[in-house]
Amino acid sequence: PKTWKRWATADREPIGQWSFGRATLLGDAAHPTTQYMAQGACMAMEDGVTLGEALRVNNNDFIKAFDLYQRSRVARTARIVLSSREMGRIYHAKGVERLVRNDLWKGRTPERFYDAMEWLYGWNVNNCLATD
Ligand SMILES: Cc1cc2nc3c(=O)[nH]c(=O)nc-3n(C[C@H](O)[C@H](O)[C@H](O)COP(=O)(O)OP(=O)(O)OC[C@H]3O[C@@H](n4cnc5c(N)ncnc54)[C@H](O)[C@@H]3O)c2cc1C
Repeated sequence: PKTWKRWATADREPIGQWSFGRATLLGDAAHPTTQYMAQGACMAMEDGVTLGEALRVNNNDFIKAFDLYQRSRVARTARIVLSSREMGRIYHAKGVERLVRNDLWKGRTPERFYDAMEWLYGWNVNNCLATD
């Protein structure tokens, strides 16, 4: 790029309740995350799909659907928030921590890097709802 812009990025401790009666949260409002996993918009889209499915299986009963939606999404999105935070720490490690990081990743192929993210793939509209 010819120019660039400095962005302030921040996350928030994950919270377990997004739904309050007939209101619920989605996307950054529910689970703001740092950028290190590039998943903020992806999670917002997954939220939207899950919310639609939760409404469909509950025949548009908002209270039941919002509860199911929240149960289906909190752990996965919190994992993104916490993993992204950890990734930022790894990327920006200094001093001895940086040496440990370099040692841990020495010789690791790009393919093996993605092994650690297997849990992220495989999500789809047919398995997006919590079953417990
Ligand atoms: C520099 C940068 C790079 C990123 N790169 C990636 C990436 O590679 N991959 C990825 O998945 N994510 C990425 N993200 C994250 C992604 O952009 C966000 O997670 C995503 O946009 C969140 O969507 P959202 O709909 O929840 O919120 P937003 O996109 O913030 O939408 C909220 C909307 O609500 C509007 N609004 C706010 N208050 C009011 C009000 N009172 N009344 C009416 N409207 C209101 C806002 O104007 C805004 O349009 C990046 C973010 C940044 C900043």
